[in-house]
Amino acid sequence: MDDTDYIRRHIRTVSDWPAPGVQFRDITPLLQNPKTMRVLIDILVHRYIDAKLDLVAGIDARGFIIGAVVAHELNLGFIPIRKKGKLPFTAISEEYDLEYGSATVELHGDACVPGDRVLLIDDLIATGGTMMAGRRLIERLGGHVVEAAAIIDLPDLGGSGLLRGAGLAVYTMVEFAGH
Ligand code: AMP
Repeated sequence: MDDTDYIRRHIRTVSDWPAPGVQFRDITPLLQNPKTMRVLIDILVHRYIDAKLDLVAGIDARGFIIGAVVAHELNLGFIPIRKKGKLPFTAISEEYDLEYGSATVELHGDACVPGDRVLLIDDLIATGGTMMAGRRLIERLGGHVVEAAAIIDLPDLGGSGLLRGAGLAVYTMVEFAGH
């Protein structure tokens, strides 16, 4: 079994949560097991160790868990991209469409400076809207998103294809078909 198969086997699928029809891909078993947690972080550290990054940006909330550990291991700082209304200092906002309605993510205005090379991390890419909004926040501050990394891709929802089509490098470890 290779490392990504090992990761895949520790992702739990919860049907009909948080709403009927959703197959929720739950990474908590992966985080809870010390061996899978180490493999997960080591894959990311190995991938980015020579990427000359300045910062790791994690997306609320599961992107914080992985992103902060990767940042620490790479001797980098961590910046949080948060859901609307959670950041205490002056922030910039990006709104994006959801299946029903919209969502907003925010970043402190001093989170990065022009020229910073930033790795963007979340747990999963579905429609790609969250990653795209995160990228826009970093780029508005003059930062450069080197890659968008996630554990899971749902390719049938088209998000990773959309992000790549928009010129963003994308790295994911495992794919699940369907929603
Ligand atoms: P999207 O913006 O559509 O790419 O959605 C990605 C965000 O929504 C990530 O922050 C995920 O944590 C969350 N998400 C979307 N769909 C799922 C799913 N099926 N299982 C777990 N998390 C999901």
